[in-house]
Amino acid sequence: MTNSAPIVRFAPSPTGRLHIGNIRTALYNWLFAKQQGGDFILRLDDTDQERSTKEFAQGIVEDLAWLGMVADRTEKQSDRFKTYDAVADDLRARGLLYPCYESAAEIDRKRKRLMARGLPPVYDRAALKLTDEEKAELEAKGQRPHWRFLLPNYAESPFETQRTEVRFDDVIRGEQTVDLASMSDPVLIREDGTYLYTLPSVVDDLDMGVTHVIRGGDHITNTGAQIAIFEAVGQRVPQFGHHNLLQDASGEGLSKRTGALSIASLRETGFEPMAVASLATLIGTGQAVEACANLTDLAAVFDPSKVSKSNAKFSVGDLDGLNDKLLHEMDYGEAQERLVALDADLGEAFWLAVRPNIHRFAEVRGWVDVVEGHFEALPVAAEDAEYISTAAELLPAEPWDETVWPKWTGALKERTGRKGKQLFMPLRKALTGLEHGPDMRQLLPVIGWERTRRRLP
Ligand code: GLU
Repeated sequence: MTNSAPIVRFAPSPTGRLHIGNIRTALYNWLFAKQQGGDFILRLDDTDQERSTKEFAQGIVEDLAWLGMVADRTEKQSDRFKTYDAVADDLRARGLLYPCYESAAEIDRKRKRLMARGLPPVYDRAALKLTDEEKAELEAKGQRPHWRFLLPNYAESPFETQRTEVRFDDVIRGEQTVDLASMSDPVLIREDGTYLYTLPSVVDDLDMGVTHVIRGGDHITNTGAQIAIFEAVGQRVPQFGHHNLLQDASGEGLSKRTGALSIASLRETGFEPMAVASLATLIGTGQAVEACANLTDLAAVFDPSKVSKSNAKFSVGDLDGLNDKLLHEMDYGEAQERLVALDADLGEAFWLAVRPNIHRFAEVRGWVDVVEGHFEALPVAAEDAEYISTAAELLPAEPWDETVWPKWTGALKERTGRKGKQLFMPLRKALTGLEHGPDMRQLLPVIGWERTRRRLP
C-alpha cells in the first residue's frame, strides 16, 4: 500500500443483523477503498456490552463475506476501553470534558422550555457553573455524572456562544457547513461510565490511520462535533463522505433491530450476492441500476459524486430483475462449484440449457430431476398417442448435439403435417412432464438418446 491509498472503516454495532442500508455503507467504503488500492477495516462498535453479542458479530462477518468483502483488518471497541479512558482523562484535565448531573427528565424539561420559546434546544452548560462543593454534594447524594465535550463555539465565555462554522469537503456531497453553536455539547460518557460511540470512534479513526469516514447522511451533524473532537484529541482530521439513506417502499427508514430486509433473509430467499450488492450500491444515484457480476466490476462503475442527496426508496422486487440477469449470464465456470454443492452438476450443456429458466440458483435441482426422469409422467392425450409413436420411430440415432431437435421435429413435421405447438408440445410433455421449460434444442442432448427413448412408447 502506498502512502496515499485510503484506509476506510465500516463500523457497525453488533446488536442485530445487517440490513441492506448497512450494507450500502459497507459497500461504499469497500468500493471507495478498493478503487484506489486501499484498506478496509471492519470495526465492531461494541461499547454497548449489553446489546452486543458474539453471534451478531459473527453474522456481520458472514454477511460481508457472502457479498465478497473480507476485511483487511478487524477491530473491536471493547478491546480498547483503556485507550478511551486515557483520552477521556486527558480531555477532563484540559477542561474539555465536564461532568453534568441533570437527569434525563430535567434535560427534557429544559429542551421543551426552549422549544416553546421558539429557541433551538441547545444545552445551556449549567453544569459548568457547578462549584467543586456542589459537585461533591451531588456525588455524596449518590448522583453520578454524565460527561459532555465542551464544543469550541465561543470566544471568551462558554455561556456566550457564537456562530462557529465547521466546514468539510464531503467526498459524496461536496462542501458542507455545520454550525457548532447550533448544537449541544455532545455527551461522550453516560452516567454508568459507558461510552457513547462518538469519542471511541474518533480515537479509533485516529489510531487506526483512517483517512476517510464514509457513512450515512444521518451522521452529518455528528461530523461537525466529531471534527471538533478530532482537533482536540489529535492532530489530524480524516475526510468525510455521507451517503443518502435507503427507505423501504413505504418510506420508512430501515432498522437493524426489526430484521427488515436483513442480508441474512435476502440470502435465504435465494438472491445472488451481486444482485444485492449492485442494488444496494447503485440505487439512489444518478447512475443506472445494473447487475454487476462481481465487486471489481461494481468498483469500476461506482462513482461517489453521483450519489443523490435525497433518500432512496428500496424495494425487494427490484432485486428480481438483477438476479435473473446474473443467473442468465453466469458462465459454467462460475456456476460449477455451486452446482456440485447442490448435486446438480450435469455439465456445461446442462447449465447453459437451464440457466435462462431459473430465477433462483437452487431451482437447478428441479431441472436435474427433469433430465434424470424423476417426475410424474403426464397422460398422453388420445389425439397425440399416434403422434408420439411416430416420434419414437423417427428418433434420430446418436451422436446427439443441438441439431437433433430440429432434425427430429423437421422429420415429424414432414411425416405428420403438424406444426407449431402441436408439433412441439406433446414431445416436451412426454420428455419433461411439463408444458414449459428450457429450449428443447439445448435440453434434448442433455437428456440423451437412452432416456429420451425410454420416455416414448
Ligand atoms: N457505530 C456507528 C453506527 O453504526 C458508526 C458510525 C460511523 O461510521 O462513524 O452508526
